[in-house]
Amino acid sequence: MSNRAEPSFRESVDLMFNRAVALMDLPPGLEEKIRVCNATYTVRFGVRLRGQVHTFTGYRSVHSEHMEPVKGGIRYAPEVNQDEVEALAALMTYKCALVETPFGGSKGGLCIDPRQYEEEELERITRRFAYELAKRDLIHPAQNVPAPDMGTGEREMAWIADQYARMNTTDINARACVTGKPPNAGGIAGRVEATGRGVQYALREFFRHPDDMKKAGLEGKLDGKRVIVQGLGNVGYHAAKFLSEEDGALITGIIERDGALFNPAGINVQAVRDWIVRHDGVTGFPDARHVADGAVVLEEECDILIPAALEGVISLDNAARIKAPLIIEAANGPITAGADEILREKGTIIIPDLYANAGGVTVSYFEWVKNLSHIRFGRLQRRQEEARHQLVVDELERLDRYLGDAWTMTPDFKTKYLRGADELELVRSGLDDTMRTAYQSMSEMWHSRDDVRDMRTAGFIVAIERVAASYRAKGI
Ligand code: GLU
Repeated sequence: MSNRAEPSFRESVDLMFNRAVALMDLPPGLEEKIRVCNATYTVRFGVRLRGQVHTFTGYRSVHSEHMEPVKGGIRYAPEVNQDEVEALAALMTYKCALVETPFGGSKGGLCIDPRQYEEEELERITRRFAYELAKRDLIHPAQNVPAPDMGTGEREMAWIADQYARMNTTDINARACVTGKPPNAGGIAGRVEATGRGVQYALREFFRHPDDMKKAGLEGKLDGKRVIVQGLGNVGYHAAKFLSEEDGALITGIIERDGALFNPAGINVQAVRDWIVRHDGVTGFPDARHVADGAVVLEEECDILIPAALEGVISLDNAARIKAPLIIEAANGPITAGADEILREKGTIIIPDLYANAGGVTVSYFEWVKNLSHIRFGRLQRRQEEARHQLVVDELERLDRYLGDAWTMTPDFKTKYLRGADELELVRSGLDDTMRTAYQSMSEMWHSRDDVRDMRTAGFIVAIERVAASYRAKGI
């Protein structure tokens, strides 16, 4: 246990920012302009529930408007506070810059435990919160576009979109005021899985870089790697599911609210998720050992640790005992600045949040573009693509007949090749490309300079350079 004081979440993000700008050559004025949060709006509103008026506190913070709209989720959690929302808004700025989504950074939060309310009550609270934000243009297709975060999902986004549309009846782009909507309300295929999918693509890209793997003392493929995941919410669930089902990774630990599950032989992620839905927790799950003090499982031996829940879970208190050689930050801010330092000194490789969990905002970007263009991706070209492929298949069939037994087409080649890509495939392809490209720019920065010693600093430098370039171009 260390007796150094832990900075707040926002201070932690600022420390990481400062570490990066110390290696850059920015004019001090510009550095300060980029670092500070432009504005935070606090709203307190009342909703009559169960015969009584309840007052709720919510925030929407805008960190940087170098590009508009600004973008970032809305979180529902009892502990939401201004410091946290500002830290998360700052991370959105750097995240969007790193993965080249043309947005500034923003974030919102409502102090509420959604588990304590009925669906109909949550709808009234959400609509009222949305009304308060929309009337100040803090929800707006051209200015500020929220999305899901902890405690919110498709359902809340649909209410927000509808509330905005009711208030702006002639806005043809009303649907683009929020992303993460259900597919039948202007959403896009693949948004729910996007952040977890992005974590998978990020790890795949890391495993395509043998030099980076060597730094973590890892070799080979994802297949058989032991993974511990903290939080089986939307992000952790999808990441763990895809990594185990598609890449052969072994999920040896799952940490949840009511303790952790541990099994060195691997845990079936889908079975745990189904168990949680039925039993409201992991306790009692039959095929793994239950550890009541879940946090100690963060310190278990494994190849990859995926914190996918709250910020600050790896802190000065436990950082020295973390054994994983590779940590991928699926959550925002899971490692405090102090813990980051301890881990770096130990040689732990950290794939940082501003990159690792950018899959969500990337697919949000696709959804926003889809809403503004008012057409589903692939609708124009899909059949044309199929027709062109048909020409090749016809030729190959002719060859097949001509060559007789000497050569035959692979049985499912024709079906696979003929099928034009649907929206989900296009979204995944765009996400994969984004995650690869961003990794490469970060990794290039990491390797091209001796004074850039870790991936987080590299990611921050790439992001800050882009934000700075955009401010310079504006001539402020
Ligand atoms: N809340 C997510 C994040 O932290 C998604 C934001 C978005 O899609 O705008 O990145």
